[in-house]
Amino acid sequence: MKKFPRFESMIAACRWGTREMGKHGLRGWSLEFVTLPKFTEGRCKLRLQTIQVEVAELECRMSKVKGIIRHEIAHAKNADQHRHGTIRDHGIEWAMTAIRVGCKVPRASESHHGILRQANEMLASKQRRTSE
Ligand SMILES: [Zn+2]
Repeated sequence: MKKFPRFESMIAACRWGTREMGKHGLRGWSLEFVTLPKFTEGRCKLRLQTIQVEVAELECRMSKVKGIIRHEIAHAKNADQHRHGTIRDHGIEWAMTAIRVGCKVPRASESHHGILRQANEMLASKQRRTSE
């Protein structure tokens, strides 16, 4: 049987997540810890203004849970309002938002999420240009 995650870590994650969502302009949004389909760590429910996180993730480090929440915040902030508010995939626009909301840029050895590295480089070169 799956062990139920520690109650305290859920409280801590809720507090942190709610504050983080507010910080990025997602007021009135909720954070839920639920059972999601296999290999799904988090989900952004635009219409319900809810970010869902797989409850089993609470067994992991808090930094991982925070990463999932930030990933979903980026989806929420990056919704395509012209297409009835649909969630965009992990394209460059999502990645730029993800970095702005504090998603970690993976190391070069991690092939996964290369789009985040690309966005990070684009933002860095933009900064260089404005500071010259
Ligand atoms: Zn995603």
